[in-house]
Amino acid sequence: MLDSLNLYLISRNYGIHLLINRMREPTGYSTFQGWKRLQANLLDIAAYDFQTRTLGPGVRTAIWVNGCCFACKGCIAAEWISPGQKNWVQIDSLVDKIIGLKEVDGLTLSGGEPMLQATGLLNLIRQVRLHREINVICFTGFTVDELKFTPPSNEIQDFLSEIDLLIDGRYQFELNDDRGLRGSNNQQFHHLSNKLKHIDFELYPRKIEVSVNSDYVLVKGVPTKHGLSAINRALQKLG
Ligand code: SF4
Repeated sequence: MLDSLNLYLISRNYGIHLLINRMREPTGYSTFQGWKRLQANLLDIAAYDFQTRTLGPGVRTAIWVNGCCFACKGCIAAEWISPGQKNWVQIDSLVDKIIGLKEVDGLTLSGGEPMLQATGLLNLIRQVRLHREINVICFTGFTVDELKFTPPSNEIQDFLSEIDLLIDGRYQFELNDDRGLRGSNNQQFHHLSNKLKHIDFELYPRKIEVSVNSDYVLVKGVPTKHGLSAINRALQKLG
């Protein structure tokens, strides 16, 4: 459960309340600066797993953000495209949890669309890296050219500077060849640093973990088409 992990979920209304209070702080922050400061301290998260082995090398914390500006056919996370009910999580809480897990050496960001929450994710990475040199993998539906020439926010270039491997482009169902750490073979691996260059992600074995609790089933990793069908059949049997 989220609350048992000592994360602070706040409702949409409380988020607005917090925003108003921050704007009233006697710090001289303008409304815009207050909003930017708030964005930098909160993430709207759909799901997370603090220790998974399915989304890159080693033991990784995976964070899936809420909300996406695309609508790819066959999206495995379709219920996270619309932001819907916000699940605001304080970044400090995530950082404390990650740095408390000594075996975690990587962070994988997915969604939803991470580029729409670049400010908060940038803050998260930088805070964790004050304590430990982790590697960062990020999945995005934007292409590298779109991020370069028509970025969705001013923070994108700073965010990219903290990412080691970027997997870019919309998921194309017809181009899913069941290979590598990507959804479809139009998506490219962009090594933005040297840290993960020794790994061939095009041949990276697809692995999944499935978590089931009373409220949801979370499939972690990039499933093969056959694997996804098997999961769907099993869920249908469970009702
Ligand atoms: S970019 Fe990713 S999360 Fe967004 S609709 Fe496409 S597959 Fe789904």
